[in-house]
Amino acid sequence: RARLWARTPVLTLVALVSVAALILLLHRPESAAEETTAAAAAGTKKAAPVTAFRGDQLPEYLGATPEKLAVKNVITSNPLLDDVDEPVGILTRATDDAPRANATLLVLVRNNELKGLLGTMRDVERTFNSKFNYPWTFFNDKPFSDVFKRQVRAATKAECRFETIPREHWDTPEWINNDITEVSNKILVEDNIMYAQMGSYHRMCRWNSGMFYKHPALKDVRWYWRVEPNTRYFCSIDYDVFRYMEDNDKTYGYVINIYDAPQSIRTLWPTTLEFVAKHPEYLHPNNSLAWLVDGNSRPNHHRIANGYSTCHFWSNFEIGDMNFFRSEAYDKYFEYLDQAGGFFYERWGDAPVHSVGLGLFLDQSKIHWFKDIGYLHQPYYNCPSSNKCRGCKAGRFVTTPSMNPENCINNFFKYAHAD
Ligand code: GDP
Ligand code: MN
Repeated sequence: RARLWARTPVLTLVALVSVAALILLLHRPESAAEETTAAAAAGTKKAAPVTAFRGDQLPEYLGATPEKLAVKNVITSNPLLDDVDEPVGILTRATDDAPRANATLLVLVRNNELKGLLGTMRDVERTFNSKFNYPWTFFNDKPFSDVFKRQVRAATKAECRFETIPREHWDTPEWINNDITEVSNKILVEDNIMYAQMGSYHRMCRWNSGMFYKHPALKDVRWYWRVEPNTRYFCSIDYDVFRYMEDNDKTYGYVINIYDAPQSIRTLWPTTLEFVAKHPEYLHPNNSLAWLVDGNSRPNHHRIANGYSTCHFWSNFEIGDMNFFRSEAYDKYFEYLDQAGGFFYERWGDAPVHSVGLGLFLDQSKIHWFKDIGYLHQPYYNCPSSNKCRGCKAGRFVTTPSMNPENCINNFFKYAHAD
């Protein structure tokens, strides 16, 4: 072989050039992305051309007609700077005769997060639950310690349920190839994706995407409010938020809408399109497709995420109807994603997964922005201007102003609704 190479310098040259070309080709998209981002940040060099999203390029089964993709509202001012009141609709007070909803405050938490949890519970109890007394349900992949249970019980007069997650809901499924996970997680590290190599983080995102509503302890429960340790609640809530959802025909409530790191979900949208191609019947006619596929606000995100804007409901707060997640459309969708492996080979978060599912399979009028709920999960706020709020600056989204553009709530208003 050595003699053959020596005798054929032309062949060697051709081989070297091909390898070099291949390397260049493989690296091209990323360097283009970097260049564009860097140029945009510097505001100097002209950004590299990005293929703009064209509605007519979407597959037909998405039903993406120009009317469906049209801009509906343009909001230029910050709605949180106006006086923010309770939502319009049927509101139930603590003293009303009406029964409570079938609901729970739902927390996935580790034993070592007790302190951060107690702070959050104090906020939730003060602003809401001391008036309404909804039970808390705590979930953990390991048993809760006695200290944990004792201190949590002392933080509320409501019932506390402590649940262990069954292994078959938490463990990495057997069809996931650990060698592939290892290699692909290194790529995520190169892409600066947080927690890329932390197996528990991947499992947590999967559980929150498609497992929580299957836990036997929630079998007969319909509504949940997801609470995370170390989050803050600032405003007094004087109506029953669960009854608000039920009585006003809402399915999902959010407070914050932000862009995701597109490198963590490169194949989420293409995998979603595969699923929808098989099941176009699950698409809701009044869906939020235009919000999902917007490519104008962050062309690079849209390109790296292969057609998804990455704008999503930040799911560390959510008030939702588990019947939606248990529906055939959403649950089959989750199963399809789960088989594809992106919870492990990429780092699909439960926030974009919920958001894409809601955006495609739910009537958009059933999605509600709880603008009156003052909230902080570092580093982002939802902070209304209201005399019911204490401890946050009205209208603030983030403390570092250069991060304000991470807020994409205006996209939801623009392409879905601003009710
Ligand atoms: P981030 O908000 O994306 O930075 O992720 P967090 O670290 O806040 O985790 C999200 C939620 O899942 C929080 O409520 C955590 O307490 C919980 N969580 C994350 N990993 C685990 C885990 O391995 N076990 C348990 N029991 N809870 C977890
Ligand atoms: Mn968190």
